[in-house]
Amino acid sequence: MITGILKESGTENRVAILPAEVAVMKKMGIEVMVELHAGQKAFSADKDFQTAGAVVADRKEIISKADLLLCVNPPVDDDINFFREGQVLCSVLNPVENREWLDKVRIKGLTVLALDLVPRTTRAQSMDILSSMATVSGYKAVLDAASLLPRFFPMFMSAAGTIKPAKVLILGAGVAGLQAIAVARKLGAVVEVFDVRSAVKEEVKSLGGKFIEVEGAKEDAAAGGYAVEQSEDFKRKQQELIQQRAIAADVVIATAQIPGRKAPVLLLKETVSSMKPGSVIVDLAASTGGNCELTENGKNIVAHGVNIIGKSDYPSDMPTDASKMFGCNIINLLKIMVDKEGNLVLNMQDDIINGTTAVHGKEYISQRVRQMLSV
Ligand code: NAD
Repeated sequence: MITGILKESGTENRVAILPAEVAVMKKMGIEVMVELHAGQKAFSADKDFQTAGAVVADRKEIISKADLLLCVNPPVDDDINFFREGQVLCSVLNPVENREWLDKVRIKGLTVLALDLVPRTTRAQSMDILSSMATVSGYKAVLDAASLLPRFFPMFMSAAGTIKPAKVLILGAGVAGLQAIAVARKLGAVVEVFDVRSAVKEEVKSLGGKFIEVEGAKEDAAAGGYAVEQSEDFKRKQQELIQQRAIAADVVIATAQIPGRKAPVLLLKETVSSMKPGSVIVDLAASTGGNCELTENGKNIVAHGVNIIGKSDYPSDMPTDASKMFGCNIINLLKIMVDKEGNLVLNMQDDIINGTTAVHGKEYISQRVRQMLSV
């Protein structure tokens, strides 16, 4: 099989595979082509890919020769005319956002493997790109907040007096939130946490955070470990408690999401206006509407003296390690899709492959894509 690694467009700095992972693919019997300058923004030169055994070529040649195309974001622009039936494309998909594009490539007969649809099961953990990228986001969000905050994070006892530790409030203790708790604690902050899933309570405590429980949270075992929409009564109670804690906080890291839906609004305008001037909100849910009512996606704004960072693309700001993790996740997925000779074998009976395949044979396959797109 020939695999082609495509260069990302726009502001994306990551690349799907770094040279070290190319070497692993070669050992698996896979031929690798890499688009010219694909790794440049992740600090990997074309010659590094060549040393690892890849052939560097231009985009059209790669698309015309590769059986499997790998990229971080789906190539949604002009490439569609050059794809051919039976070709396999593997990237993060965002099926709702890219539904028209997905429909076009389905009709064309491509197979699309959506890395954001890899099931969140124990067996698939090593292939879970959402977790790897959320780890980067949680880490970077805290560092960004710490560098903007006009105060220290840790407690200091010095000859110039005692400095109290910063208070960090984390909304949502999924993968990004848990990472944010760990980093904020390492920097010496006092950390309080909200989530609607009771399962995270122990994890929060073990990381040194204080879990604040709001009674009456709705949980659904059928949601696969994800959060579900809450009742109006719960939302009101939660917003009141969050307001109390946010007013006392120096930093809020907001990560709460509900898959396939708009992010829950947890920080109201009135809450922001009561927060301390100089405090910082980092809203990682910005691209799905934001957890803060005032968040503007992709922008840093100041409202009522509070810095609000609306940012959902931190992994692109840390492209070397983010690409490393991304590539390792792909290699682990390839291990269940490639035979001993390095040929692609898609076993649709395998729950990971079935769950990850958005379209194949001109049909929608993944149950989650069918649900999200109502097809
Ligand atoms: P996510 O990005 O979907 O959401 C982030 C967090 O926000 C979640 O913890 C969610 O409960 C919380 N949240 C949603 N609505 C909220 C509200 N109104 N108020 C407060 N918090 C709210 O989550 P994620 O990081 O993608 O993780 C989702 C689930 O997947 C978790 O159960 C996690 O443990 C599980 N997971 C499993 C695996 C695996 O086994 N392979 C890997 C990663 C994650």
